[in-house]
Amino acid sequence: RVNLQGSSSIVTGGASGIGEACARQLAEAGSKVVIADLNEEKGSQVASEIGGVFVKCDVTKTEDADAAVAAATELGPLRACVNSAGLGAPGRTINRDNEPLDLDKFSFVIKVNLIGTFNVLSRAAAAMAQTEAMDEDGSRGAIVNLASCAAFDGQIGQASYSASKGGVVGMTLPIARDLSVSGIRVNTVAPGLIDTPIYGEGEHAEAFKAHLGQSVLFPKRLGHGEELAFAVMECITNPYMNAEVIRMDGGIRMP
Ligand code: NAD
Repeated sequence: RVNLQGSSSIVTGGASGIGEACARQLAEAGSKVVIADLNEEKGSQVASEIGGVFVKCDVTKTEDADAAVAAATELGPLRACVNSAGLGAPGRTINRDNEPLDLDKFSFVIKVNLIGTFNVLSRAAAAMAQTEAMDEDGSRGAIVNLASCAAFDGQIGQASYSASKGGVVGMTLPIARDLSVSGIRVNTVAPGLIDTPIYGEGEHAEAFKAHLGQSVLFPKRLGHGEELAFAVMECITNPYMNAEVIRMDGGIRMP
């Protein structure tokens, strides 16, 4: 196992849900965690609970990503970067009046989920590559991205979300190749339906939860952020885990 004692790590989206669970498990493993999130109130609270640092960060901004990386390298050699910041903005390709979806709305989701992920991971990788290797194999650290089963399935109104997460899946292997010579492993975890605030309330949330009926897990239930974090931690601490896309949906197959 990779020993994270004395290391630092970055968790984007670490103020909530899956990212928060990852931040807590990284801290338990001895890493000093930078919570890089837009949500200052919740992010600072989580950071103080786990002995980490909060950096207000919009993952789409290069200067914010640089600030998160700089904060982490102050705390110890950067060994892990978890890209959990993400969102959806549902909208059908054409609406009931046959008007096309606003292109800015589509682009926004791609910008946060795909370009934001690349922005932070590339800057984190640059810092990791400059750390002293952890062993004679030259291992330096691990990057884990959060995609979604929406990369493989398709729901109404989710073209931008599925495209963004398909992009995260698609870039996993080439980035793993790019970074292998630097001793950095890259993996992606693709969650199914996880009980976090991302769905909000109302019609949209209910539509998603209706898919629970297709679960082959007994009893049928949503996943917990903590369970996703177990998979993320496996990607970070198992030195043979690389260039993998892991579907973590408890057996829910959505249409
Ligand atoms: P969440 O809403 O609980 O947490 C997401 C966090 O990202 C929030 O704290 C939010 O402030 C932050 N964030 C949003 N935009 C940001 C930005 N531009 N810069 C920095 N931070 C930003 O969501 P979650 O359920 O924990 O989701 C985590 C990841 O897992 C996301 O990428 C999501 O798409 C993916 N995912 C979640 C599920 C699920 O069922 N919950 C399913 C599939 C994929």
